[in-house]
Parts: sequence; structure tokens; C-alpha cells
Amino acid sequence: MNNPWQEAQKQFDNAAETLGLEDWLCLLLREPERVVIVSVPLFLDDGRFVVFEGYRSQHNRFRGPAKGGIRYHENVTIDEVKALSMWMTWKCAVMNIPFGGGKGGIKCNPKNLSSSEIERMTRRYISEIACIIGPGKDVPAPDVNTNAQTMAWIMDTYSTLSGDYSPAVVTGKPIEIGGSEGRNQATGRGVYFTILNYYKHTKQSISNKKIVIQGFGNAGQHAALLLEKEGFDIIGISDSTGTIYNPNGIDIEKLIHVKNKTKSIVNYQDAEKLSNNELLEIKTDILIPAALESTITIENADKIQANLICEAANGPVTTDADKILEDKKIIVIPDILANAGGVTVSYFEWVQNLQSYYWSEEEINNKLELLMAKAFSNVILTAEKKHTSLRTAALMIAIKRVALAAKLRGIYP
Ligand code: NAD
Repeated sequence: MNNPWQEAQKQFDNAAETLGLEDWLCLLLREPERVVIVSVPLFLDDGRFVVFEGYRSQHNRFRGPAKGGIRYHENVTIDEVKALSMWMTWKCAVMNIPFGGGKGGIKCNPKNLSSSEIERMTRRYISEIACIIGPGKDVPAPDVNTNAQTMAWIMDTYSTLSGDYSPAVVTGKPIEIGGSEGRNQATGRGVYFTILNYYKHTKQSISNKKIVIQGFGNAGQHAALLLEKEGFDIIGISDSTGTIYNPNGIDIEKLIHVKNKTKSIVNYQDAEKLSNNELLEIKTDILIPAALESTITIENADKIQANLICEAANGPVTTDADKILEDKKIIVIPDILANAGGVTVSYFEWVQNLQSYYWSEEEINNKLELLMAKAFSNVILTAEKKHTSLRTAALMIAIKRVALAAKLRGIYP
């Protein structure tokens, strides 16, 4: 199993070297500023008692408060949240939004917990990290297995503890309590804009282009819906329960209905069933990893038959796999650019919360499209100028911005 923290540090080292970053900045930026481990005790509904381990990593806050999601998963580790928090720093910097990077999680299997157990677990976790989060300190958001309801409990717990109405402590909330229009779809919409930006820049037509998606949650579903509407054929999709394949295209709305009803995509009728390993071998124009990190590794990168990989997930391609894909001339649009739609609309949500003035969905989507296009063109032009991969170019832009902020602020004391 690849260690995501080592992957994140390797990526940083490569980009820092290409950038010629000064030694003290390399030492400073390759470590998180702060990592907190907390116990999350919980009485289950049946009276049994358990203690989960929770984490929050703040990689960097030079350009603004830490920003990043909270994940509930049995494989959450401290190294995973450290890696995800570092990627958040670069993502916010490449988008040029005024945040640093954070990430948190609880090592648990939420599928074995009732909604009331998840609520109590969330509230206790937040009360344990309340002293390090806040609208100007660290602003969490949804990630794997957390959603708008989880964010509502976070906002309520923090507001109750602080005594202030504090919607800006967390983003991805329900609209009724300060959430933003468009936030739920934002990551998928950002992936969609990124793919269109790529085809526009390379002057290729999108007609008859085929897409395979790994992971069918928030990021995967919204990207699929928008891309299908645009005319792409989504021919293969997996989730944690299996893979479906139909070379003529899968009906995404129907599939979402099946997934919501039965909790699995494999109950969709009009498609062949494949194993999850086989998904990566399907011949396609675009592959969108939208599940978890390190799913494309030295073990399977060689078998991939796509021309373009657009990383909706964070860290899906390992450094070794990156090299194989580069040799195979497969273009990889990196996570810190491709899935930045989520954090960008989170930024819009935070701004709206701070000013208590709310924008329409149209305004949000237009602003998102503009920022995504600007960041995309910055990254692709840098890659072309410096003869690097898109990942290295994106990291170089991001690291340069964070390094400049560090230099200007200096080191205290
Ligand atoms: P989610 O919990 O809504 O969905 C995750 C999906 O991945 C589920 O369909 C699950 O069944 C599937 N999955 C898990 N293991 C799998 C496997 N081995 N093979 C195939 N599918 C598998 O989570 P999400 O919010 O969609 O996040 C997915 C990825 O996108 C994560 O890497 C996350 O960090 C990243 N991301 C999410 C957001 C966001 O706003 N939600 C923003 C940026 C990045």
C-alpha cells in the first residue's frame, strides 16, 4: 500500500527542485504546521462503548486560514490527512484563493453507524478540535462519507460552544443555514470545466469522446451528469461494490436513482458487470478517478488505455505511476487543479457567510468558470514553457505563491 504522505512529499520535492526553491523554504513547506490527534468516545445506540481516533492536520496558513474536508473512513490515517492537507495548500494556491491547507478525519466505518451515532461522533470530534478551527483559523468542508448534514452539525456545535452564530466556520452546509448555491455540484462542475478547457486548449473536438469514471459519489456523479449532458458517452463506472460497462453509454440519471435506492451501482440493468481492476483497462478517451488516493499505481498504470486522466479524487496517481503514464504519453490533469471546483465554491460560501449577503447559482457558476479557466490556462502555459508535466507546473505555481507569502511574513519570532 502506497503511503500518501510520502507521495505528497515526493511530488513537492520534485517541483521544489525544478523551481530551485531555497533550502529553508523546502524544509518549511514539506512539513505540516500542526497535526492534532483526538479521541472520539461514543456510546452506541445499543449501549456499547467505543473510542475512535480523529485527526486534523493544518499543513499551511501563510495565505489564509487552513481549508479542507473531513473524511469518515476505516482507512483514515494520520499520514493520509497530512497528505490531503498538503494538497489543499497547493490547490488553494494554484486557484489563487486566500486559504491554506487543512484536512481531518475519523478512523471509523460510518456504514456501521446510525445517523444519530454519526451526529454524536461528529459533535464530539468538533468539540475536541474547536480551539483550532474557526472562520479565520481553519474552515472544514465535506469529503468522503461526510455531507451537508454533517456540516450542519459542525456549524451548530461550533456556534453553540462559541456562543456566536458562526456559519463561516465550515462550508458545504445546507443552503437553509448559510450554504452556497452550487456547492454540492461544485467539484463535479470543476472537473467538467477542466475537461472542456483541455479540449478547447488542444483544439480537439469533444464529439464521440468516451469517459470512464472510478467512484460514483459526490465528485463522480456530478461530473458524470454534466459531461453526459455535454454529449460525452460515459461507458464505464465503478463504486466500492463493483464496476459496470456499456460501450454505448450509461444513463447517469437512471444510475443515480439505482445507487440511491439500492446503495450499489451493480444493480443497474443495462450494462455488463466487471471487476474493479478491469475498469482501469477499458479503452477510453478520458479516465476520471473519483474515488480514493493511490488507485493508479505501478501495478496497474501500464494497463490504462486512456488518452487523458482528469483527477477528480485527491492523490489517485502515485509518483511511480505518473512516470509510467508520462512514458505512455497519457496526459494527467492533476487533482490540485481538476478538483478545485469544490474548494473554490467553498471560498464563495465563506465570503457570502462573512458578508451575510448571498449570490445566485448563476453568479456562482459564472465565477467558478472564470477562476477555473484562469488557473487552467496558467498551468498549461507554464507546463508548455517549462517543458514539465501539468502536475509539476501546477505545483510550481502553487509553491511559488506560498513561498512568497512565507518570505513576506517571515518566521516568528
Ligand atoms: P463520496 O464518499 O461521495 O464518494 C466516494 C465514491 O468512491 C463512492 O461511490 C465509493 O463507493 C467509491 N469508492 C470507494 N472505494 C472505491 C474503490 N476502491 N473503487 C471504486 N470506487 C470506490 O466522496 P467524494 O466527496 O465524491 O470524494 C471522492 C474523491 O474526490 C476523494 O478523493 C475526495 O478527496 C475528492 N474530492 C472531493 C471533493 C468534494 O467536494 N466532495 C472535493 C475535492 C476532492
